[in-house]
Amino acid sequence: MERRSFIRQAGIAGVLAAGTAPAIVHAQTNLRWRLTSAFPKSLDTIYGASDTFARKVKEMTGGKFEISVHANGELVPMPGLVDAVQNGTVEMGHTAPYYYFGKNDAFALGCAVPFGLNSRQMTAWSYDGNGLKLMREFYSGYGFTSFPMGNTGAQMGGWYRKEIKTVADMKGLKFRVGGFAGKVTSRLGTVSQNIPGGEIYQALEKGTIDAAEWVGPYDDQKLGFNKVAPIYHYPGWWEGGPQLDLYVNQKAFDGLSGEYKAIIESAAAYAHTEMQAKYDARNPAALKQLVANKTRLVAFPKPVLDAAFKEAMDLYSEISAANPAFKKIYDDYSNFRRESNLWFRFTEARFDAFMQTAKL
Ligand code: CA
Repeated sequence: MERRSFIRQAGIAGVLAAGTAPAIVHAQTNLRWRLTSAFPKSLDTIYGASDTFARKVKEMTGGKFEISVHANGELVPMPGLVDAVQNGTVEMGHTAPYYYFGKNDAFALGCAVPFGLNSRQMTAWSYDGNGLKLMREFYSGYGFTSFPMGNTGAQMGGWYRKEIKTVADMKGLKFRVGGFAGKVTSRLGTVSQNIPGGEIYQALEKGTIDAAEWVGPYDDQKLGFNKVAPIYHYPGWWEGGPQLDLYVNQKAFDGLSGEYKAIIESAAAYAHTEMQAKYDARNPAALKQLVANKTRLVAFPKPVLDAAFKEAMDLYSEISAANPAFKKIYDDYSNFRRESNLWFRFTEARFDAFMQTAKL
């Protein structure tokens, strides 16, 4: 007899009286899926989120649902990740959505745009604002759904052979910059290049590029950029809180039981929190080591930020006028950004500013 009809006939009191153990409504089958990461294994922060996610899924399903995690290029190179998830070549991909702005600029809004949301705001917009809903609606056109899975927090502005003192110093700068941000830096005159993480060091060492940004102290130190460029500018105004996404092929996801769907959602949320925690816990020591090894920390001058801000806002107006998908998401995103900053200026910003100058 099916459990539900048994309950209907016997009533809940009868079930309790009979001491019937709770039945598993949908028997879970053994599953093996593949997840392609856009990142190299050496980055235990950003790549590590996929490992954490797969481990949690395995634990929560008693080992029945196993997801093998593959580093960038092992199955799929990073630029092909969206197509691979869309086609079902792999069931899942973990990536920085802004890498795919060439398909549509709206991808960038699921990750980071210059002068966008910080990490806290991005999580708030995603989970409790319209962010996740709007991004999923957009991704449905590509045959997959998404789950936030990590954030690096505000990034550094990268490594430079020569200090940026004025807006004019950006002109002609051969600059490795991630994803969509190059659209803004190139309006300031940079020759923007999107070189994969593993190849940046060599390009900077050889002088093929003049400057390169990656993430922040912990990751950057691992890749050795401090050995080939002395100036470390801050902040990375193009990445105030870049969010990573787990993409899941929609058909594959729809075929899962309710339990497995919930487990995917929960495991991704755990990995989301853990990635930010790792960055926040590990960056301070790495920054100290870099400074002890003669890295010069230099703030971007305010006029550079002002000029970049103006270019960014002009760019968003231009894209919005031509791209309805971008406009729909950006309108909501920019409202959220305005309201959130209005609130944070009284609380986080004031509290943080006091604490960071207090003698601890
Ligand atoms: Ca970056």
